[in-house]
Amino acid sequence: MSARTILHVDMDAFFAAVELRENPRLAGRPVVVGADPRRGRGRGVVAAASYEAREYGIHSAMPIAEAYRRCPHAAYLRPRGSLYGAVSRRIFAMLERYTEIVEPLSIDEAFLDVTASEALFGDGAAIARAIKKEILEQESLTASVGVASSKFIAKLASDLQKPDGLVQVRPGSERRFLAPLEIERLWGAGPKTLEHLHRLGIRTFGDMERLELDELIRAFGKVNGRRFHRLCRGLDDRPVLPDRERKSLGKEITFEADVMDRRVVERTLLRLCEQVAAALRRKDLAGTTVTVKLRWQGFDTVTRQATLARPVDTFEGIWPVAVRLLRIADRKKRRVRLVGVTLSGLHRSGAGQLSLFEAGERPDRRVASAIDALRLRFGRRAVTRAALLEEDS
Ligand SMILES: [Mg+2]
Repeated sequence: MSARTILHVDMDAFFAAVELRENPRLAGRPVVVGADPRRGRGRGVVAAASYEAREYGIHSAMPIAEAYRRCPHAAYLRPRGSLYGAVSRRIFAMLERYTEIVEPLSIDEAFLDVTASEALFGDGAAIARAIKKEILEQESLTASVGVASSKFIAKLASDLQKPDGLVQVRPGSERRFLAPLEIERLWGAGPKTLEHLHRLGIRTFGDMERLELDELIRAFGKVNGRRFHRLCRGLDDRPVLPDRERKSLGKEITFEADVMDRRVVERTLLRLCEQVAAALRRKDLAGTTVTVKLRWQGFDTVTRQATLARPVDTFEGIWPVAVRLLRIADRKKRRVRLVGVTLSGLHRSGAGQLSLFEAGERPDRRVASAIDALRLRFGRRAVTRAALLEEDS
């Protein structure tokens, strides 16, 4: 494979940095974003710690009570998921201007393959500098970037000079770069594997490189043995996988017999909205455009779409829009053959990470409006989704 240029972009202490930006009075204070510490009796965990808080040994995923014990005078803040999500979407949109090959790893982290962008924007380090500058100017936040010929090396590199780091590993210098690094940085190595590596006297990637392939296979099996043998030499040809296949997500149903009763059509659409919402959340995605498709007897088909101000990934966000679109589309009053709903304009929602902290944070007002819409249409009988679904199944 010819040489590639891959960037790993990672925001520094993302949630905490956003909070510091939003509230300048916190400057210089340790900031911990996460569960309520309840004076040391809180039961949740730390979602993010500012660099000042890290000096007390506080890090993400640490029990919040432990963080409180280490630093009771820190500012303890509840996560504001929609705020971080909005910042993240703007940053990803910016990254996508440098290359369309962007693979998000989480709400604040991505791989970029910029091999084809170098003619336009300069070499990998120049692109990394430009991205860091844009993030700082537009969001007043810092990112750390690793530039290398593989994902593995780029990810290691981005971590070495945090915060506000930029580490470039030039093609050909991968082994020299890796040799002194601790083996703890090995991608996906759990405590058991690390223990085994230590028993074999392997502390660094350089140590690992001295083992023969068959020794590694004997110790770690074929798959991992081969993988370790390659990784410690800087060999990793996994491609950066953009989210192309996730441009839209939808479901549709063709009725077994064409349907005249609009209540049946709407109930079916309702169930499709639930399925789409669940699928979005499973994939940690949210969409801004809702499209409803309707096909009548005789194959006449119409689609109607609406774009929302903010991405949605819940039934309550999708259904009121979908049912309105259905009614707009359904002018013909003929028998219906097919109904479908699709969400597009998809973004990483970050909800998978945030739902832990956000649960119960705010009752979704859209629930109320959806229920109102149902009442208007079907009367009191239809106030709950469960009631509707039971009737149908
Ligand atoms: Mg980060």
